[in-house]
Amino acid sequence: MASLPVDLEDLIVCSKCDLLHRKATLSVAARAKCARCGTVLLVSRPRAIGQVLALALTAAVLMTVVVFTPFLQLQSGQFVSRASVFDTVMTFSEGIMLPLSFAVAVSIVVLPLTRLLALIYAFLPLFFGRSALPYAKVSFALAERLRPWAMAEIFMVGVAVALVKLSSLATLSVGPAFWSFAAIVLVVALKDTLMCRYSLWSLLDRAGA
Ligand SMILES: [Zn+2]
Repeated sequence: MASLPVDLEDLIVCSKCDLLHRKATLSVAARAKCARCGTVLLVSRPRAIGQVLALALTAAVLMTVVVFTPFLQLQSGQFVSRASVFDTVMTFSEGIMLPLSFAVAVSIVVLPLTRLLALIYAFLPLFFGRSALPYAKVSFALAERLRPWAMAEIFMVGVAVALVKLSSLATLSVGPAFWSFAAIVLVVALKDTLMCRYSLWSLLDRAGA
């Protein structure tokens, strides 16, 4: 069989349109985009893994604040009611509301947290110069696969709509969980932008995962 004119290791495929590119060495902070569809193929950011891990850990810690501290406070005359995400899910945990309650818990807490923990599991040992843990690649693939299903931003839009609608009925104020949640949306968006998937996969390859 005739050998290929280029080494396969020097080629990179666009994840969106499958166009084949030859890899080039990038200067620091430069990015390589697909010639056909503009998808980012490579980003040269040597310290990105530390930043990505720091952001993922921040978001995971903020998530515990979201679950257990008050999200909203409603006040109408003498009546005051505070609710955390945990209370809300528990309140609707029986009868016809159960599927909705389950869907909310999964999409705003369970899936985003799973993504964060899977990423931390896969890359934290590498950051400290250790070899990869078992199933590190499976773990990172899971984090990537779940991305479209983690819908924190959409929940935030829903909360904003509810705030506007309820504001005529009662005095509303937001609690620590609300601000933590807003911070998570920003932190996760920043993390996803900083992440160069290609570099992370090749990092796992080099670590023998
Ligand atoms: Zn492309």
